[in-house]
Amino acid sequence: MNGSHGALRALAVLCLALLVQGAASVPARAAVAPAHKTRTVVLIVSDGLRWQEIFTGAEEALLNDKDGGSWLSDEELRKRYWRPRAEERRAALFPFLWGTVAREGQLFGNQTLGSVAHVTNGKAFSYPGYNEMSTGYPNDAIDSNEFGPNPNATVFEWLNQFAPFRGRVAIYGTWNVYDNIFNKARSGLVMQTGWTLPPKARETPRDALLRELYATTTQFDEEDSPNSFIQVPLLDYVKTGKPRVLFVGYGETDNWAHQGRYDLVLDSAHRFDHFVEQLWNTMQAMPQYRGSTTFIITTDHGRGSGPTEWKEHGIEEKGSENIWIGVIGPDTAPLGERSHIAPVAQAGIAATLAAFLGKDYPAAVPQAAAPIAAVLPMP
Ligand SMILES: [Zn+2]
Repeated sequence: MNGSHGALRALAVLCLALLVQGAASVPARAAVAPAHKTRTVVLIVSDGLRWQEIFTGAEEALLNDKDGGSWLSDEELRKRYWRPRAEERRAALFPFLWGTVAREGQLFGNQTLGSVAHVTNGKAFSYPGYNEMSTGYPNDAIDSNEFGPNPNATVFEWLNQFAPFRGRVAIYGTWNVYDNIFNKARSGLVMQTGWTLPPKARETPRDALLRELYATTTQFDEEDSPNSFIQVPLLDYVKTGKPRVLFVGYGETDNWAHQGRYDLVLDSAHRFDHFVEQLWNTMQAMPQYRGSTTFIITTDHGRGSGPTEWKEHGIEEKGSENIWIGVIGPDTAPLGERSHIAPVAQAGIAATLAAFLGKDYPAAVPQAAAPIAAVLPMP
């Protein structure tokens, strides 16, 4: 059972009603328009990027060496990211999110406007967060990033069983733990993670250069490669592999926060925004994706606040459960920054992703949370 059966039935009933009424004067276009224009969905995550930066931009108290651990001069840091008004600051930090996503899509999680987005896993660190958003429900047993292979299938693995998507569901991320979260061994998804570059039958000069950089760059973190290292193979894959369902994970924003380097958190966040824009523009330039692609953009957890706790996250650091979610695509009403609206949960992302593709995920996985209705087409 999936959503398209319901839609077909509704359509049949509507056609019958029109026939019965002899309704030649009723415009038929509305009745035959497809329920979903989306054919491809991309879920994009910037790890541990706070809602505070998304909605209010750089935090003034951290634009220094003392509490922000910044190596950049205060003057240069303020030139890059400080503006008197929150609207200007956030647009300077995230030009694509505020210039395009907020104008053509929706953004949830500005707590100062009464919009809350949150995790429901009670842990507020990475594996539980990626598990919650991708399976649609928290799993209390997952209490460490070293948990190992995920016993539960994600919505990506679930979608990969359907003919139109099979072999075209892919996970691209900087972190090698995605191999466990998306259960590489069982799921059969296309995967590129961490510092591993899968061999190619025929290598272009660009492939060879990338391989050399993967092999020779000092590993700041052996689990996690720099964001730029996933962007290059990601764009190549989109052009050649023609994915229908795609996950993209960028790790730098979390890593630099743990290092206590607020200057590099901001630079990573700014570049993350650019990477999302680059992926969006690349796909919009391809006939196969233009006007039929939806992006869901989010984070796996929040972080603490104040002069020290911004660096860490988890149950100890209050507020780490708070996240943000952005959606842009042909089926999402352009309602922009949402305010005074019911909370949305990270668990709802899996069913939302499936619903954009006309699939009823909670019907198959009853423990999964309902989709975020506000971003879906009106029934
Ligand atoms: Zn972390």
